[in-house]
Amino acid sequence: MDFNPELSWEFWPEEKLAARTLRALQNHVEHVRKASPYYAEALAEIDGADIRSLDDFAKLPFTDKSTLVDAADRFMAVPPERITETVVTSGSSGRPLVFSMTAGDLDRLAFNEALSFHGAGVKPGDRAQILVSLDRLFIAGMAYYRGLTLLGANTARIGVLPFDMQKHYVELLEPDVVVCVPSFMKRLGKELQTRGFDTRASSIRKIVCIGESIRRQDMSLNAVGSALEDMFDARVYSTYGNTELAVAYCECEAQSGNHAHPELVYTEVVGDDGRPVPDGEPGELVATPLGVEGMPLVRYKTGDITFKICGTCACGRTSCRIGPILARKSQMIKFKGTTLYPLTILNALDELDCIDDFLVVLEGDASLADTVTIHAVTPPASLQAIADHLRARARVQFPVLVTNAPTINSLRGDSRKKVKIIDKRAKTRAGR
Ligand SMILES: [Zn+2]
Repeated sequence: MDFNPELSWEFWPEEKLAARTLRALQNHVEHVRKASPYYAEALAEIDGADIRSLDDFAKLPFTDKSTLVDAADRFMAVPPERITETVVTSGSSGRPLVFSMTAGDLDRLAFNEALSFHGAGVKPGDRAQILVSLDRLFIAGMAYYRGLTLLGANTARIGVLPFDMQKHYVELLEPDVVVCVPSFMKRLGKELQTRGFDTRASSIRKIVCIGESIRRQDMSLNAVGSALEDMFDARVYSTYGNTELAVAYCECEAQSGNHAHPELVYTEVVGDDGRPVPDGEPGELVATPLGVEGMPLVRYKTGDITFKICGTCACGRTSCRIGPILARKSQMIKFKGTTLYPLTILNALDELDCIDDFLVVLEGDASLADTVTIHAVTPPASLQAIADHLRARARVQFPVLVTNAPTINSLRGDSRKKVKIIDKRAKTRAGR
């Protein structure tokens, strides 16, 4: 497979893009009604010809994650012998989703990531290092690997290693670009500096950040994002991926929102009532991946809160963009009559150098008000500074408990990711 970015729809005039998107959605609905047992039933009353506009498409029912987890077999749109890769992701309830992909899906995934890296200015021959796991049934590391190699970057599968080994490979292979979780990269930068490595003089020029936001709601860089740019004298690019969509939204060189790849995904942002919200207004990301063979989806509710940015980007792309993920929908905090995005709290805590690590724990009581407790690895003398900063940044006052690293890690449990927020509200409300 060759990578031809000029085949992408990203730079098309908006009218042409909208017309082609509508046709693609009509074809998609026709296809899933024939191939997917789930959609044969869910969309029995609708055929592609009924969808005469994008507004018509927005009337189709949503698909949510719990439905997908419960009925995964019924979403299979190809015979089992065509499946060539299985990935597993945890559902919001903790139940695993087994997600099946064909060889064609893997090629599509590679094209998607190659387009993402190409948009961020990665070029054939650039030396790239992937600093996330490529095993453990994750889709992400595999997708970055396929995308970078398709693009023609010289790709090193480093994974997550002890810091001395990370340093060894940075010095040995001199990467131009790294793909990493931003908080991990910040920690790595500090560890490299402790070992006498001049991070600003390093070869790294681009840092592609996954799994955590690097921006605030106003699109400015948050503490971790700006620390990385400063520490490595490099540019940071956010990328947002979703296993079930098998697609990524990635920032371009203009660093002003994560671009959708319009030939691979149709993007909506909806409010609590399920109706589209105006551009720029936060809502739940709903996406319809296009061209998926194994487990195609229609109007999939990601559970992630973000906002849409439309219009032509400074880079010339007309494809829509999304902002940072402000919250998991299930993790929105109800506090004193208002709704609070966890990202605001996480960004505020990340700004404080006196905190080595932290975990935000959400609990609930019978009154439906949420309680928020912050467990922080910090000197007790810093408590007042933390409280003042939270009040200034997030206009909130939450109890802060001083703790240590082993306690925080045991609170995190056996999560595969280093989570910054734990939601115990359902359990505490149920009295467990
Ligand atoms: Zn752009």
